[in-house]
Amino acid sequence: MSDIKAVLLDVDNTLLDFPASAKEAAFAAAVELGYELPEDLMDHFEPINNGLWEAIERKELTIAGLREVRWNRIFEAVGFEGNGPLFEDTFRKYLNRAAVPVEGAKELVTYLNGKYMLAIATNGPTGQQKDRLTIAGLWEEGMLLLSSEAAGCSKPDPRFFAFCLERLRPLSPAEIVMIGDSQTADIEGAAAAGIRTCRVDLFEERHGPCDWRVRSLQELQEIF
Ligand SMILES: [Mg+2]
Repeated sequence: MSDIKAVLLDVDNTLLDFPASAKEAAFAAAVELGYELPEDLMDHFEPINNGLWEAIERKELTIAGLREVRWNRIFEAVGFEGNGPLFEDTFRKYLNRAAVPVEGAKELVTYLNGKYMLAIATNGPTGQQKDRLTIAGLWEEGMLLLSSEAAGCSKPDPRFFAFCLERLRPLSPAEIVMIGDSQTADIEGAAAAGIRTCRVDLFEERHGPCDWRVRSLQELQEIF
């Protein structure tokens, strides 16, 4: 798109396969703590984790609050006796390094970084997200990393997108596209700031308005 000058790009479930990364981290944490996790434990991770992130988006929960309750809730769901907060700390140590890229992620980053100003726009700690992208081979010179930690608030908070626009000055919102998987955090958050939007439905079909929608990362290179 000739009028687009910059791309804001989400990380989890857009560039990185978060369920696969989380599974890798949970089983590494279990080995360290000597926990014998039930086989079906990770079946509960996604619904519980997604519910907690949605509560964060609605401002009913903080990221610190999520870290307190996440693993206790998952352990309760499978009847496993474990120390949730301790497991959380160990899990996150491994999650820092667990980064399974989505098919086509490397090609996409190289393509977008060569053609546009490319900024990663992610809810998460700056260091952790940069490390994960580096491990997955997705971090390149010239990219920006705009994190909720640096912004002081998470997508879809309007202040997060105001922070992004400030960092991409003097571009106007209409010259920027947000590419991500979350209809609320990525798409509605960016649209409210006047930024154009492209939803990536890789893992599930989502609904709601967006300017563009794709089902694979490869399709993005045809549009942008
Ligand atoms: Mg995402």
